[in-house]
Amino acid sequence: MTLLQWLKHAASRLESAGVDSFKLDAQLLAGKALQKERSWILAHGDESVDSEVEQLESLLYRRIKREPLAYILGYREFYGRSYTVSPAVLIPRQETEDLIETILSYIPNDEPLKILDIGTGSGCIPITLKLERPQTEVFAVDISSEALELARVNAKNLHAEIQFQQSDLLNSLDQNSKFNFIVSNPPYIRNDFSMAPDIKLYEPHLALFGGEKGWEIYERLVHDAPKFLLPNGYLILEHGYDQKDILIGLFTANGWRLVTAKKDISGIDRILVFNH
Ligand code: GLN
Repeated sequence: MTLLQWLKHAASRLESAGVDSFKLDAQLLAGKALQKERSWILAHGDESVDSEVEQLESLLYRRIKREPLAYILGYREFYGRSYTVSPAVLIPRQETEDLIETILSYIPNDEPLKILDIGTGSGCIPITLKLERPQTEVFAVDISSEALELARVNAKNLHAEIQFQQSDLLNSLDQNSKFNFIVSNPPYIRNDFSMAPDIKLYEPHLALFGGEKGWEIYERLVHDAPKFLLPNGYLILEHGYDQKDILIGLFTANGWRLVTAKKDISGIDRILVFNH
């Protein structure tokens, strides 16, 4: 069998399994199995893959079962950098790149500000912020020790100096710590929300689901965050598509001031900026 024949077979199996990006996924799976770049895969359709069929088929089988491509490949690009990912962490999302853009717009290039990321997962948020604004001091917490372990690997690989700590939201932080920015993309999905099998069966439920309502984590942050913010500090949050008004109500009723509300690149309400 040639590589091109395998690609066609794999793409058609993936399409039948309901995978939208079936052609691209077939190419990337082949790249992983043959340890080659996608450009090589595209240029070498005539190569025989007879001795690699087992490898190829085992990766194809995983994707047919709807395991996310990022977990199979072991990495995901975020804001132009490659992050190691595993089922211990949420796969970084495009809408979180929009969160990054918003946060960066509040951080001048020259001020040594302190930033805390809550629920850091793969570490994509604090690492990006530190690399884009090297003068800042960046801290990150997560409740999951496995996630923190992976976030540390990513910080090391990408040469970003971040201070990580295990904590359930702000509970284990030094009570005297204060930050100019507290940012978070917390779990915000309603427990009973129906989702694609790729997400629901494979991504960590701890990182996805906020509770019965979905916005339970924000109900904790609204009370816990003020004492960790420096004067004029900002709280910048990613949230679910239908939570904007609820969260604005929740925060403003508890002494916060809405600075701005933003949509993501798909035009969906996604980001809120508050100060206190
Ligand atoms: N902060 C991480 C991210 O944006 C993890 C988010 C989460 O696990 N809810 O990808």
